[in-house]
Amino acid sequence: MLIMASSPTVLIRLVASAYSIAQKAGVIVRNVMAGGDLGIVEKTSSIDLQTKADRLVQMSICSSLAQKFPKLTIIGEEDLPAQEVDQELIEDGQWEEILKKPCPTQYSAIKEEDLVVWVDPLDGTKEYTEGLLDNVTVLIGIAYEGKAIAGVINQPYYNYQAGADAVLGRTIWGILGLGAFGFQLNEVPDGKHIITTTRSHSSKLVNDCISAMNPDNVLRVGGAGNKIIQLIEGKASAYVFASPGCKKWDTCAPEVILHAVGGKLTDIHGNTLQYHKEVKHMNSAGVLATLRNHDYYASRVPETVKKALVP
Ligand code: AMP
Ligand code: MG
Ligand code: MG
Repeated sequence: MLIMASSPTVLIRLVASAYSIAQKAGVIVRNVMAGGDLGIVEKTSSIDLQTKADRLVQMSICSSLAQKFPKLTIIGEEDLPAQEVDQELIEDGQWEEILKKPCPTQYSAIKEEDLVVWVDPLDGTKEYTEGLLDNVTVLIGIAYEGKAIAGVINQPYYNYQAGADAVLGRTIWGILGLGAFGFQLNEVPDGKHIITTTRSHSSKLVNDCISAMNPDNVLRVGGAGNKIIQLIEGKASAYVFASPGCKKWDTCAPEVILHAVGGKLTDIHGNTLQYHKEVKHMNSAGVLATLRNHDYYASRVPETVKKALVP
């Protein structure tokens, strides 16, 4: 008897493409750094930067996705003039491993036009310009009916301190209901409160909130993607950012990876985030993310902090 394999769904094909596109993005990020000219531009301030890598990667990701999936809504962080995109920046591949995966049934009928893709071409730009290279990630998040359901994170400099023989870079991906892949899940030992937070966008509010949580240790690192990786690899137990500043493209892909392994990402009030195409880009009420014990951290957020951060 001949059994016909059903062809992959739109969501599976999109994630398979996003994986290959994120890998190419990682190559571009490394090439720009190796070229030595970062082309730094200040956007709103000296702590809100854009480099040539942010620009090229956004063009690469958005054009590659739009070419294969013309009906998608794609929202990228960078404001770029409309221009012809160099064919060298286009990635056409689809990661085979992902094409073989079953689509969770609740997503099997999704059409291209139902999906919104949130793109952060380079998360941790400030740290990229300062040589803190493993803080950098490329984020492609996919939302359906306002909910983040699939995501891809490329970490271009994963392993860069592991010696010349180590393979540089990795790609982590996940779909709700299927799981998250490309890393080893680890947890901080029970009862230990290790908080990870911003290193370049701190404020009194951020620090007041962290103090109220009685942390055993506080890590200050760049990147929203990087901090979620710390949660899933057992390096930190909570990502606390009691401040506006972080946007939907920072949280969409990381949220999916965290949720796919049983974690939780909300604003500082404990509200889930929305990702439909008309939503406000700014996460005005901050970010609170944990692999476990979200309630503990949420219960410790001071009332003064909550009052200052209106969703
Ligand atoms: P961080 O933890 O400081 O690396 O921030 C995580 C993400 O939010 C990065 O993409 C930052 O660029 C962004 N972000 C946070 N605070 C600000 C801010 N005050 N201005 C601009 N971007 C911010
Ligand atoms: Mg970012
Ligand atoms: Mg960015």
